[in-house]
Amino acid sequence: MLVWQPWAVLFLASTIGSLLAARVIWRRCGTSPAAVALVVLVLGAAMWSGMRGVGMLFGSLAIQSVFSVLIYPGVCAVVLGLYCHARALTDRRWTWNWRRHWWLLIEPVLCVVVALTNSTHQLFRVGYRLEGDPPILASEGGPLFQIHTYYSYALLGAAFFVLLRGAFRVSAAHRVRFVLPIVGGLFPTVGNIVSVMIMPELPVDLTSVLFLATAAICAWAMYNSALPDVLPVALSQVVATIGDAVLVVDRKQRIVELNPAADTLLRSLAPQAPAKLVGTSLRDLADPMGPSPRTAGPEQRTLAVEELDLHLDLRTAPLTDSKDACIGWVLVARDVTESLRQRAELERQRAEAVAASDALREQLDLVERLRRELAEQATRDPLTGLFNRRRMVEFLSREVPDTLAAGRPVSLLMMDVDKFKGVNDNHGHAVGDAILIGMAAALSEDLRAGELLARFGGEEFVLVMPGVGLEEALARAEVWRARCAQVEVEGAGGATVRTTMSMGAAGLLPGARVPDTNGLLVAADGALYAAKAGGRNRVVSSGVLTEQVAAAH
Ligand code: GH3
Ligand code: MG
Ligand code: MG
Repeated sequence: MLVWQPWAVLFLASTIGSLLAARVIWRRCGTSPAAVALVVLVLGAAMWSGMRGVGMLFGSLAIQSVFSVLIYPGVCAVVLGLYCHARALTDRRWTWNWRRHWWLLIEPVLCVVVALTNSTHQLFRVGYRLEGDPPILASEGGPLFQIHTYYSYALLGAAFFVLLRGAFRVSAAHRVRFVLPIVGGLFPTVGNIVSVMIMPELPVDLTSVLFLATAAICAWAMYNSALPDVLPVALSQVVATIGDAVLVVDRKQRIVELNPAADTLLRSLAPQAPAKLVGTSLRDLADPMGPSPRTAGPEQRTLAVEELDLHLDLRTAPLTDSKDACIGWVLVARDVTESLRQRAELERQRAEAVAASDALREQLDLVERLRRELAEQATRDPLTGLFNRRRMVEFLSREVPDTLAAGRPVSLLMMDVDKFKGVNDNHGHAVGDAILIGMAAALSEDLRAGELLARFGGEEFVLVMPGVGLEEALARAEVWRARCAQVEVEGAGGATVRTTMSMGAAGLLPGARVPDTNGLLVAADGALYAAKAGGRNRVVSSGVLTEQVAAAH
């Protein structure tokens, strides 16, 4: 009784395609209400196509008639599925709640009952007959079928309406999610019109096949917009959780939205704030933006709330519509009191550390200066300010070998104030001191760089002249000797005190073997002794020391 019917292949292929689509949608799009609705749609299309295809394989009118009424559960499921898909897509809170949506089941149940009992009342379809070869069942719709058709188109129209309304309400980025299902829904509608108006000779109704295309487009739109769908929810959850206060105000600075942190902050700033903050003017609670905030570009500043000892980092950014007109602002406030306090504390500690290090540096400088002064004092004679004996000996031992090695002579004068004891005895120790100071000043004149004058002890002085030959040294000694004789000091009873200086000179020639430096001193001392013996106030030379002379001393 089976017949070969090419149309059946199309319907059976569409059935298999619909079943596969149901499986793919279930796996890829999850179990959201919109995905479940889509699965209902494709399973309906599968039943619709399947019953149509299987029925065609039979040549008998009776069998084809039975299968023709079995398509109606599928027909109703397709329409119901598309409507629920549109509702779930456009309303995130929509769920498969039969207590609320029970009315959606009325028509499908009635339709199926009427279709199954059609043979008894003939109100649904009439004029069953086989047409063509191979034969295909043909019939006309009765009054109840007309009602069913109107109802189905009304539900599809409602689905298109909610999708269009959704498309107008959402931003451009999300619009495609609603536009694509509309385009998909148009396929069977247009197909239906084409088959009825343009190609009436077509022996079959291809609507169930075209609904597979609807399902495919809806599934594609859903799958590709899965992230944007959850993103606004995720973002609002993030905003609700973060510690920063986030606030959205409209053009008149009325609060449109705020997170819990913003609620808490506003209530601490304005304890008189009303229970419901949305809709309240922000300026009545606090006035962080001023009367005319910037309408272009973000802003950032720190606000100090003295009464609460609170410092806020406030960022404001204008919100614009599609024509770039400012429609409000988003404000993000962060409590920076603690971090500012920590920064101030760090700054204070840093300043303290800098001050301490400056003080330490000053103290180190002072210590260094004192150390240098002390070192200097250790080499000086306090009375005359000349170098002391220790410094002279050190100078002699270093400078003499260097000068001789450099091929230059060295001369030395040893000097002793004449009859100084008498000055002390006759005029007192203080006058003696004054004489010593005067003599030191007289000897200090005409000193050359690199020469060293020292108080050797008591009223004795030593002058070391590196690079000066004995002849020249004797000539310069004569000048000093004469100058010393000029030194005058006021003595006891206003008397003028004056005395003279005896000098002994010794010298070393360049290239001479370096003698014991003490030898030079001893030689000069010998000459000084001779000067004293010779009547004082004179310069006596010991001559240029030879190696032997130096060794002899
Ligand atoms: P001569 O011509 O032989 O050198 O005789 P003189 O009196 O200078 O010789 P003497 O060495 O006997 O005397 C040195 C005196 O210098 C003895 C001491 O009291 C005195 N004298 C030593 N140091 C100082 C000093 O710092 N100040 C004073 N006022 N007198 C001092
Ligand atoms: Mg003496
Ligand atoms: Mg003397």
